[in-house]
Amino acid sequence: MQQITRVIGGTVWSEDGPLQADLVLDAEGKVEALEVRGSQDTGARDEKGPRLEEGGVIDATGLWLLPGAVDVHVHFRDPGLVESEDFLTGSAAAALGGVTTVLDMPNTLPPVGDPGALGEKIRAVAGRSYVDYGLFGAAVAEREDDLLAAVEAMAALGACGIKVFLGPTTGDIQAPGWGALYELCRHFGKSGLVFTFHCEDRDVIQRARARRRRLDPADYQSLLQLRPRFGELLATDGVLRLALETGARVHIAHVALKEAVVAIAQAKRWGAQVTAETCPQYLLLSDGDYPVHGPAMKALPPIRSAGDREALWQGLLEGAIDLVATDHAPHRRERSAHEAVWEPPFGIAGVQTMLPLLLDQALQGACTVSDVVRWTSANPARAYGLYPQKGSLLPGADADVALVDPEAEWRVDETWWKGKSRNTPFWGRRGKGLPVATLVRGRLVSWQGSLAAEPQGRFLANSAVRR
Ligand SMILES: [Zn+2]
Repeated sequence: MQQITRVIGGTVWSEDGPLQADLVLDAEGKVEALEVRGSQDTGARDEKGPRLEEGGVIDATGLWLLPGAVDVHVHFRDPGLVESEDFLTGSAAAALGGVTTVLDMPNTLPPVGDPGALGEKIRAVAGRSYVDYGLFGAAVAEREDDLLAAVEAMAALGACGIKVFLGPTTGDIQAPGWGALYELCRHFGKSGLVFTFHCEDRDVIQRARARRRRLDPADYQSLLQLRPRFGELLATDGVLRLALETGARVHIAHVALKEAVVAIAQAKRWGAQVTAETCPQYLLLSDGDYPVHGPAMKALPPIRSAGDREALWQGLLEGAIDLVATDHAPHRRERSAHEAVWEPPFGIAGVQTMLPLLLDQALQGACTVSDVVRWTSANPARAYGLYPQKGSLLPGADADVALVDPEAEWRVDETWWKGKSRNTPFWGRRGKGLPVATLVRGRLVSWQGSLAAEPQGRFLANSAVRR
């Protein structure tokens, strides 16, 4: 286990741009100072880093230092579904991908819908993460009668947020009705507790199922018909209205539709306390890619048209969408092109590929490196009350660092992959810009494609909730 004291010679990126600076760390693994280098000291050296030197110094000449990514949407399947992933493998994949904090979703087994299950999960996961982590609770239909007490108790245990699954997805946790959600958001309106919504309307999806027998099971458009845009937009509008009427802090997961971007922008102008995320799969793929990728690109909500994809980029660049998360959803079972497009499992294992994919986009000019920092670390940390401890490299912040080689070419393959499941449409993809070392609170956790430490990630009990 290597405690790092300085990272020298690199370029430190923030939301505001690059800085030629050395990073000085204190004994607690926090950033002590950023020492800007003079023009005479360019740190120029023939061979490129990273190179580990005496006294815990990393020579990062030619490399970029990014605040480690904060992935606010992962499913590590632990406890209960560990044949697909567990916290050790999921967090190892995170570390290799430059992700230093993850927030894990509550559709594990048992579902985290009450304080007992959350306490059980906190104990089950302890000591088994390479990166720092938060855990969601869920608002579930079974607890509708004592929802306020259940949510209050989960918040008291440190839940990073409360997830509401408005549509059927893995685990099929049912949400309370709108009346109960309204009471819930009214009650917690000023507390700062984040309510995170999967926006697809259950009733719309259940009705649409009857269309199956008239649809072609091999045609990707059949899946899009069974998960109508109407259901996604209805749920999104309902959640935005909930935020406007109650003042609650609402987060919309995996935005995939252009009309949703417009609705979110409008709700923000009206003063809603809303943040929104999208995911690499919605930014890089569209329905036209199904013949190439096949079932590997099946996700919920589904990946839609090229027009939606372009609107999501625009939404990010203009600020309607705040951040990128992965919705890392590993499934062990191989998906076959011979089964119907509407058959589960859905989801994409993505925690390791998010940063490489986005850095590659930045290097191609689709956005800037500062945009990537804002979307993958600063804004996600802000959305869940973790900023500036996480999501920045300002003095006093945790020294969570993704050390990136902007020249390194990568390929998504078995030599690099750390997750248990390989369900990704990006398998085999090549690009440029790779995290080559990762620090969590000043400790070297991954180095040149290998794990470099024991799992010492910490549970981040949410301190943002004002009680
Ligand atoms: Zn999810």
